[in-house]
Amino acid sequence: MDFGLSPQEESFREAVRAFLRAELPAGWQGPVDTASDAADDDLWAISLEMRRKLAARGWLSLAWPRQYGGLGASHLQQIVFDEGMAYHRAPGLDIIGGRMVGPALMEYGTEEQKRAHLGAICRGEVTWCQGFTEPDAGSDLASLQTRAEPQGDGFVITGQKVYTGRAHRAQWCALLARTNPQAPKHKGISYFLVDMSSPGVVVRPLVDMMGRHFFNQLTFDGVWVPRSCLVGEQDQGWYAAVATLNFERTGIDYSASARRTLEDIAAYTQTLRPRLSEVRRRQLADRAVETQVSRWLAYRVGWLQAKGLIPSYEASMSKAFGSELLQRLAATAMGILGPYAVLAGSRWAPLGGWLSQFSLRSISATIPGGTTEVQRNIIATRGLGLPR
Ligand SMILES: Cc1cc2nc3c(=O)[nH]c(=O)nc-3n(C[C@H](O)[C@H](O)[C@H](O)COP(=O)(O)OP(=O)(O)OC[C@H]3O[C@@H](n4cnc5c(N)ncnc54)[C@H](O)[C@@H]3O)c2cc1C
Repeated sequence: MDFGLSPQEESFREAVRAFLRAELPAGWQGPVDTASDAADDDLWAISLEMRRKLAARGWLSLAWPRQYGGLGASHLQQIVFDEGMAYHRAPGLDIIGGRMVGPALMEYGTEEQKRAHLGAICRGEVTWCQGFTEPDAGSDLASLQTRAEPQGDGFVITGQKVYTGRAHRAQWCALLARTNPQAPKHKGISYFLVDMSSPGVVVRPLVDMMGRHFFNQLTFDGVWVPRSCLVGEQDQGWYAAVATLNFERTGIDYSASARRTLEDIAAYTQTLRPRLSEVRRRQLADRAVETQVSRWLAYRVGWLQAKGLIPSYEASMSKAFGSELLQRLAATAMGILGPYAVLAGSRWAPLGGWLSQFSLRSISATIPGGTTEVQRNIIATRGLGLPR
């Protein structure tokens, strides 16, 4: 693997940095993750404004092919962009639309679906949510029970989804439902695009342990969707869904977030706590080394994609290492900053109380997009060739 960036990629990195410094509000500290924008009306307004500006540059669909409204940029340019956004804690992205639904439609969608949805995603006009997980189907997603029964020129959907991020802000949902209960579980699932304003869609808030309303519980109570909203073939939705999950991420957000947090902690300890013990200094050094390792693991995923290869255990390594790094970093930072670090909304809280939120958020980092145990299974079987 070549660790260097081309002059074009380096100058793009500068362009992203300059854009973010110019466009983010003065003194921007950012939320602990980009998803937090959905939890707060003011933050959501800033996020939509940023989305409009990103769309004007074509950066919402940077690596999409030109025929679908993208800029046709390289995978490495995409990684450089994602890294800049995560480092600056910049809001504005619709990850589900841009990284999952769009690419899945390019591969499996009808011409009508592409026309209806791809342009709107590129222009930042729409927010998507992903209705995959159910109360009894998470890691084992193929055991999902939401049903879609044919009726007229469409389907009637009945069931429940859970942990649906941003559903209360979304206009559209990418939904998996079972269309053939008799078939083996992977083979009876279909992929639908559901208009969130359809009668029978009920969105209920699920407040997380940070006190945020980001997650939701979705109920589909006899929701009729036209056949034109079925993506790919009936009963074959699992394959479009897996493609969707594969597009999810390289893992660069973890190292970018860790690097920024490390820099904040280092600056804080230098100005206020110069007498840091040797043990604490070594812990910080370890986290700095791990941040760089995490960064290269993510770049390796992007590099494989750039070569036209499909990363499998490499993406799992990046996800498992990066998400666990955030947890180790949070523990290190809390240890260094002491009991005051658990404060939020207090003048005594170091770093404006940001760290307590970061620490709480890091706990769930190892869950979405495949838990850390599931990633380890992939590394063991596909990477190391161990028996299942
Ligand atoms: C921040 C966040 C955002 C999310 N956003 C969305 C969203 O927008 N849309 C959506 O549909 N879902 C979303 N999810 C849900 C997420 O995809 C699921 O939580 C995840 O797939 C795990 O499923 P589960 O919670 O049912 O846990 P389970 O699958 O029940 O797992 C419980 C435990 O068992 C372990 N386990 C399960 N299977 C195995 C195995 N084969 N080998 C070893 N260990 C195993 C798991 O690692 C875990 O520790 C989100 C979750 C989080 C935390």
